[in-house]
Amino acid sequence: MSEQHWIDLRSDTVTQPSQAMRAAMAAAEVGDDVYGDDPTVNRLQDYAADLFGYEAGLFAPSGTQTNLIALMTHCGRGDEYLVGQEAHTYKYEGGGAAVLGSIQPQPIANQPDGSIALADIEAYIKPDDMHFARTRLLALENTIGGRVLGQDYVAAATALAHAKGLATHLDGARVCNAAVKQGLSLREVVKGFDTVSVCLSKGLGAPVGSVLLGPKAFIEQGKRWRKMLGGGMRQAGVIAAAAHYALEHNVQRLVEDHENAATLARGLGEIDALTVSAPQTNIFWLDVPAAACEPLRKALAEQGIRATVGSRMRLVTHLDVSAADVERTVAAFKSFFKDWRA
Ligand SMILES: *Cc1c(COP(=O)(O)O)cnc(C)c1O
Repeated sequence: MSEQHWIDLRSDTVTQPSQAMRAAMAAAEVGDDVYGDDPTVNRLQDYAADLFGYEAGLFAPSGTQTNLIALMTHCGRGDEYLVGQEAHTYKYEGGGAAVLGSIQPQPIANQPDGSIALADIEAYIKPDDMHFARTRLLALENTIGGRVLGQDYVAAATALAHAKGLATHLDGARVCNAAVKQGLSLREVVKGFDTVSVCLSKGLGAPVGSVLLGPKAFIEQGKRWRKMLGGGMRQAGVIAAAAHYALEHNVQRLVEDHENAATLARGLGEIDALTVSAPQTNIFWLDVPAAACEPLRKALAEQGIRATVGSRMRLVTHLDVSAADVERTVAAFKSFFKDWRA
């Protein structure tokens, strides 16, 4: 591989901070955030809260931590939360809610569109009876596996939860993708959720960090859990500045990532050996013949393309993947499959 840069389609977490973002980081005014003294962290928290329409915000090192803080603040020991089988908080966060929060997850099958059926939500809420854990919370994820939850569904699911006395939390790691895709404001897309966790280090392009948004009293309680979980950071303004920059500059441009994903999926869809799902946002899936996986991984690497190759593989576009990179990727796949025989 000569002068060409790596094209990394494994995840939107791999983005590099831009020069302008690094300049904002270098210029950040900082203080000790455990004392509440970091002006850049405080500004980020206020800015994010206002942007999404919440009273207060809390900056933490990761989305795993903001989700866990939310779950531990909504639920106590012996409480339960309703969550999708495929949801990140249930499946990809090491069982933190159960291990560290003494919270019982009640996983429920996700529908093909990523939603949890309203009838299932209702059926899984436990009666007030000492045999059962207390059902306290419904947690949804948007986007989920790159799919957007429709606004009508979100409104119905959160209304149902509230009517049954449950709180609602959104794992909004990629909620900005969901908003941009639907042409909604950030306030509109989170409507119905008492709290939301937003990742700044995914498609928004910051190197580190997530924010938890919610009512003031909730965030105050959450701050105690954040400290206990090791998320109390000191001169965190250096990274909060990048997060702030990401929210200010990199939301609307997610449209480009969605267009690039669509173009990539269209190109790969022309290859007979592949079955490609149509992307809604920046993440999509394709089926690769099992025997092709190992040689394909090698062939892509030789072309400077990093991807998690598997018989069901995920491709992800982000701000460091250009339209030209998409063309290069389609060409690399086509060249491999031109010569490949099962
Ligand atoms: C990445 C991700 C998280 C967790 O974020 P980290 O910062 O990697 O801990 C939570 N939920 C979803 C849906 C994610 O994709």
